Amino acid sequence: MEELKISIAHLYPQLLNLYGDMGNIITLKKRCEWRGINVEIENISVGDSIKEHDLYFIGGGQDKQQQEVAGELYKQKKFLAEERDNGAVFLGICGGYQLFGHYYKPFEGEELKGISLMDAYTVAGKKRFIGNVTVETDFLTPKTLVGFENHSGLTYLEGDTKPLGKNIVGNGNNGQDGFEGGRYKNVFGTYLHGSLLPKNPHFADYLIELALEKHYGKKVGLLKLDDDFEIKTHESLVGKAY
Ligand code: GLN
Repeated sequence: MEELKISIAHLYPQLLNLYGDMGNIITLKKRCEWRGINVEIENISVGDSIKEHDLYFIGGGQDKQQQEVAGELYKQKKFLAEERDNGAVFLGICGGYQLFGHYYKPFEGEELKGISLMDAYTVAGKKRFIGNVTVETDFLTPKTLVGFENHSGLTYLEGDTKPLGKNIVGNGNNGQDGFEGGRYKNVFGTYLHGSLLPKNPHFADYLIELALEKHYGKKVGLLKLDDDFEIKTHESLVGKAY
């Protein structure tokens, strides 16, 4: 049987990798390799042109790093929207998530143009949201996602953009509407650092399956892994504020 493979672009890891968001790339890579799925990872730096991949990942960062990346991403907005419409998977964490929308207005300074992969926008609030988060989704098993938030940005979803889920613990997108994260087509954004995927292996596998479907044009089932340790860790964090 031909070896399965997927390709991942890690967007601007030198700039957007707050709180070890790199752990998401490591998780995707390992969970593929443990199944014999070959993973090609391309790190994209400032000045590089982004090429076609099955999955694009971008981490979080302070406003300054976001400013540096926003211009680079905006130059390639058309290509990335075409990739979204071709079924490519995107995962953006916090600052990266904010750039998936139409704009991010920091507390000080110019508004940053987003790439409008999802119908959403972000404005910086006065309060910083810091703490553990539990989200209840309607598309994962187990239903929950756990992580850590640290952002002043308030994100508002519009149009066909749906949240990842409801806040059980934490502030989520804006501390007002009770939702966390955003999804449009296979574009996913979330405020959950941690990093996210090591403690949410079921979400990692959900993204890998979507990336395989993008690559092969059909659903490709995943071999089950022994996730006992990961799921016990996940469950130990569900509902915990401290
Ligand atoms: N600078 C953005 C904010 O404070 C994103 C921060 C982050 O990526 N953790 O909302």
